[in-house]
Amino acid sequence: MSAVNKSALFQKLPSTDEVLRRPEMQALTQREGHAAVAESIRAVLARLRQEIAWGEFDEKALTLAVGGLSAAVERELRQSLSYSLLPLINATGVILHTNLGRAPLAAAALERVQATAGAYSNLEFDLATGERGKRDVHVDRLFRKLLADESVDGHSVDGVSTIVVNNNAAAVLLALNSLAEGGEVIVSRGELVEIGGSFRIPDVMSKSNATLREVGTTNRTRIDDYERAINERTRLLLRVHRSNFEISGFTAQPGLEELVALALRRNLPLMEDLGSGALFDLRSVGINGEPGVLDSLRLGVDIVTYSGDKLLGGPQAGLISGRADLVARMRSNSLFRALRVDKLTYAALEATLLAYVKRDHDAVPVLRMMRVSKDEIGRRAEEIVSAIGPDQGKHLKLELVDGESVIGGGAAPSAVLPTRLIALTHGELSADELCARLRANVPGIIARVEEGRVLLDLRTVFPEQDANLTAALASLG
Ligand SMILES: *Cc1c(COP(=O)(O)O)cnc(C)c1O
Repeated sequence: MSAVNKSALFQKLPSTDEVLRRPEMQALTQREGHAAVAESIRAVLARLRQEIAWGEFDEKALTLAVGGLSAAVERELRQSLSYSLLPLINATGVILHTNLGRAPLAAAALERVQATAGAYSNLEFDLATGERGKRDVHVDRLFRKLLADESVDGHSVDGVSTIVVNNNAAAVLLALNSLAEGGEVIVSRGELVEIGGSFRIPDVMSKSNATLREVGTTNRTRIDDYERAINERTRLLLRVHRSNFEISGFTAQPGLEELVALALRRNLPLMEDLGSGALFDLRSVGINGEPGVLDSLRLGVDIVTYSGDKLLGGPQAGLISGRADLVARMRSNSLFRALRVDKLTYAALEATLLAYVKRDHDAVPVLRMMRVSKDEIGRRAEEIVSAIGPDQGKHLKLELVDGESVIGGGAAPSAVLPTRLIALTHGELSADELCARLRANVPGIIARVEEGRVLLDLRTVFPEQDANLTAALASLG
């Protein structure tokens, strides 16, 4: 198409103001505001200009496009004003799925956010004295209750303080910088982990201005290796939970007791990055060998760091619990101010912790999901399958099979729970196409694929979502 022709086409385009004056735009402007509508018109016109420049229009096609301008503007407006962050149905069976937002919040946590965040609050205000207060008091009192628990074997954990920062990565950074800036931190080579989303212990170490002193080998580290590495620059012994992998075979790692004893003998603090950090006993759901926060503190670890939105089941946060004098050093570090969390986090965290204090574990969604039995999941799955029933479309085939749910989010990689799965196959759609159809549901449904089958695990689906899931399956035909 010639350039002359193109400039004639450009001239046929109306101006933004001309489009704005169209009667159907008036209604839109009243509903969504002048600025948003004008911006959508400009975006649609810019697209048309681009398409003219690319030679995609002749005169007839352009006349059609200009006639359809109002509809295009409405579509553009709907898209630009729609939400990008959307709720989903997690049918993967991975309870703490980082890509799906980790822990869903407890109803009480949402209520507290609603009650306190849309109003002024005593976030940093002492109601008794009328003076300035500290934001940590709101949750520190609850952590004290939860962590200064009945001591079991003579080791009491009194005087434990807790502070809250933005996430566990921030917690590790703050702790290392406060306790070891300018000095050395001893870590086993087998624990120099990278957690998804580029959290690497060596990187965090250098950002904190501490020097990493690696000891042992990837598969074997002994207590002597730590002992030999201690010198006058050593500030801290660090243990890191291997959240997302296991080392098996010819391995050795000193027990936490041995590290505690060494730290005491050499008068050095011992810190443990727990990652997930459970505040309840995972053995009660059949998961062994996953240390809880209380286990580590009872054994004598001085500082533990853990996430708020992993096994704890609360909002994104990094928790630092341990010896009051060490925590006080972190609180007075100016980095703490840069990493602090806001009122939404405190509100949600306080409500989540209160559920623990009341031993109301089922109020915390991730704990409830861990505790629900395979039988109950199987019953719900059967109901869904039989609701779709013999009229299962021509092509869709549903089966119930045994499988495993995963804790995820940096709990022991081998921590799995037995479950029942709905397995889907379809005469005309591949597993990937089935998944795409499920993702297009409102709300989107996220499943996993194994051996050409789509698997749905109801452990991570809220029972009130079963009806929507059933309808989505029925529509697959
Ligand atoms: C998850 C994890 C982190 C990072 O925690 P965030 O809350 O995601 O910042 C750090 N260390 C370990 C061992 C973890 O498992």
